[in-house]
Amino acid sequence: MSALTHHTTQPTRTTVTVIGLGPMGRALAAAFLKAGVTTTVWNRTPGRDGDLVASGAVSAGSVEEAVTASDLIVVCVVDYNATDAILRRPEVEAALKGRTLVNLSADIPDRSREAGRWAAEHGVRYLDGAIMTPTTTIGTPHGVFLYSGPQDLYDEHKSVLDELSGSHSFLGEDVGRAAAFDLALLDIWWTSMTGYMHALTIARAEGISAQELAPFAKGIAAILPPSFDEAAVEIDNDDYIAKVNPITSSASTMAHIIHASEARGIDASVMRAAEGLTRRAIGLGHGGDELTRLSEVMGRHL
Ligand code: NDP
Repeated sequence: MSALTHHTTQPTRTTVTVIGLGPMGRALAAAFLKAGVTTTVWNRTPGRDGDLVASGAVSAGSVEEAVTASDLIVVCVVDYNATDAILRRPEVEAALKGRTLVNLSADIPDRSREAGRWAAEHGVRYLDGAIMTPTTTIGTPHGVFLYSGPQDLYDEHKSVLDELSGSHSFLGEDVGRAAAFDLALLDIWWTSMTGYMHALTIARAEGISAQELAPFAKGIAAILPPSFDEAAVEIDNDDYIAKVNPITSSASTMAHIIHASEARGIDASVMRAAEGLTRRAIGLGHGGDELTRLSEVMGRHL
């Protein structure tokens, strides 16, 4: 008998259930279907699965039916109040027992940890996760997925999750870690984008169109990655000694931006928040330190 004939049984077909068919849930289900994964879908408001069903998805008539269709259930709804409303009912909890639930909805780390405790109480195998990229990236190499929870559970289901394409990172067994990374990374996104909105407002007030500024804005953004690395090393080492720019110098540049904005009647509250932090650090005697000192100062009263 050749070695090949040992493998005559057909591989088990991969199946998954996707609960929540907002833009992201639909993108996830579509990517699973495209990869050939048997996909069952459910959404609170019926009728959101038309395109998916046309592509081969099974439309479940109830949450219980959706849960029992697969060993792996992915939930992606607006937040954990929504996941609780869907899943924390005795009949659904009974159906989930022994199955793996991957929660890709966004919320705060403590909600993830609390969901982990609920899952353990009900015999649900639970992984938490976060999606860091828009719906258009799902099913492409550009999607970014983060997970946390039991490592063996992640390893067991990794091959199915990988069918979504993109990069998948397991961050550790503290079930709140994916949400914590999500929170910190979204902090960068929202503060940067709000800063960019302010920059474009100043530029327009000076007769510079947004599209004229954008290429130069990208040049500024390109300086950030090495600065991120340098700051990370300094903060992990509690080393705030100024190597490039003391906080006093940063504070005076920020003050120029505030004064110029307000002279034009532009709301400078974004920059005022940053400048206020530098003033606080200076007041605490850290004016000669690097800007990274702000991280230590911001965390002081936690
Ligand atoms: P939404 O965040 O708008 O969530 C919509 C989904 O949540 C729908 O399925 C909706 O059901 C469901 N929902 C809302 N409230 C309830 C409730 N009380 N009970 C049951 N279901 C409820 O849309 P997205 O699909 O875009 O996002 C889903 C998750 O993915 C969010 O946590 C979001 O932060 C995250 N995410 C989204 C990205 C994106 O680009 N869209 C990018 C990265 C992450 P119904 O149709 O019945 O209203």
